[in-house]
Amino acid sequence: MKTLVVFDFDHTIVDDNSDTWVIRSTPEQTLPDWLKKSYQKGLWTEYMGRVLTYIGEQSVQPEHMRAVMESIPFTDGMIELLTFISENKKDIDCIIISDSNSIFIDWVLHASGVKAAVDDVFTNPASIDARGYMSVRCFQAHDCQQCPVNMCKRRVLRDFREKQAKADVHYERICYIGDGGNDFCPVRELKEGDIAMPRKGFTLEKRLRKAISEDSDALHAKIMPWTSGNEILRELTALIE
Ligand SMILES: [Mg+2]
Ligand SMILES: [Zn+2]
Repeated sequence: MKTLVVFDFDHTIVDDNSDTWVIRSTPEQTLPDWLKKSYQKGLWTEYMGRVLTYIGEQSVQPEHMRAVMESIPFTDGMIELLTFISENKKDIDCIIISDSNSIFIDWVLHASGVKAAVDDVFTNPASIDARGYMSVRCFQAHDCQQCPVNMCKRRVLRDFREKQAKADVHYERICYIGDGGNDFCPVRELKEGDIAMPRKGFTLEKRLRKAISEDSDALHAKIMPWTSGNEILRELTALIE
């Protein structure tokens, strides 16, 4: 049976937030105050829609935006980890579940040469129109109270596993690699034998610590905090051998 590796994208595969990195493509490299102030809690994707429209209105060409996005730094060790995964596809399936968008993730993975590692990407769908304006839509409605309105990563993971099970693909274990508050919901879904891999010093690790201090049985998965993708690479190598 295979191992399923699930990645978050922002601050996990890449060492920044792709949605804020794109602002570097504007002539001023910043957003006007009225736009920044238009953000309403929980409605990030709608806000990003306004940001992308604004970027289009500044006559920023998609090619320029792409070049800027391709310069986003990868987190230490992540290229090595993804390269290892691409070389071990017979043992490892790999998906990304992210609140970024399909175009940013595609550009970054393509430029890095590690796209072959990734079997599927679940994220907000983006497109570029005839004017060169980019737009983004919400990924999926759901009924989880814990998560942002456009995406519950637990639901995405559950749907993916059900789809795979129908095709008779079952996983020996799941490794979930993430950093953020919206990675907490899917990690709670993990079972014994699975591994939660929170980035050290980031929100997910803190949320997990708090959950365990309040209830030592809160989580079934083993927890392995990491600083570099190389630590995950070593763990994964040992697991599939
Ligand atoms: Mg993240
Ligand atoms: Zn949720």
